Amino acid sequence: SGFRSLNVTRQFTDALDAMGLVKPTDIQEKAIVPAMSGQDVLGIAQTGSGKTLAYLLPLVLKVKYAKEMHPRAVILAPSKELVVQIHRVLELLTANTDIRSVCLYGGVGKKEQVAMIEKGVDIVVSTPGRFIDLYSFGHIFTRQIKTLVLDEADRMMEMGFMPQLRQMLEIIPVKRQNLLFSATFPERVERLAAEFLEFPTRVES
Ligand code: AMP
Repeated sequence: SGFRSLNVTRQFTDALDAMGLVKPTDIQEKAIVPAMSGQDVLGIAQTGSGKTLAYLLPLVLKVKYAKEMHPRAVILAPSKELVVQIHRVLELLTANTDIRSVCLYGGVGKKEQVAMIEKGVDIVVSTPGRFIDLYSFGHIFTRQIKTLVLDEADRMMEMGFMPQLRQMLEIIPVKRQNLLFSATFPERVERLAAEFLEFPTRVES
């Protein structure tokens, strides 16, 4: 598999094979290496570019296996539809591992989501509002989070999620890796990137 040259390990190349994906896309080629080396990444990429796997692959390689109780990575995206879609790809990608992930979004009861979290989770995929909501009621322990992904950052800004994103900065560890993806790069996303990222590698497709 063309992914093996990017040092993607067998359990994940097998999953990619099963998904019918053999060769990395341009954004994957560009983003995976710096992200795997632990750098912050600013990715400018449209839907359809393969951006989801461009951040999911380095993320799962870092998380590797299930551990303890608390999440070690969080992916934030603007809508229920998008978090469900990201979570679906993540489940396929981690099919040969014991990595546990949950998908969280608003507009539905919290009970089932809380029950999932309480079983122990490694990666959380969430909309910003529901994440902060569950955190503020004590349902999510955030001190083990070592990777933050912001997907469709431009849409999150358009939808007014800046207050929730700022709150994230207060509740997750300062020492962490950040991966920010956006289809466009207007000034407000530039400011967001300046607030969230440290010496990012900028990649574009
Ligand atoms: P995304 O831009 O992440 O929303 O992905 C858009 C589409 O590209 C999805 O249907 C993916 O399954 C597909 N895709 C992602 N990576 C690859 C790849 N390396 N080769 C072929 N298709 C891919």
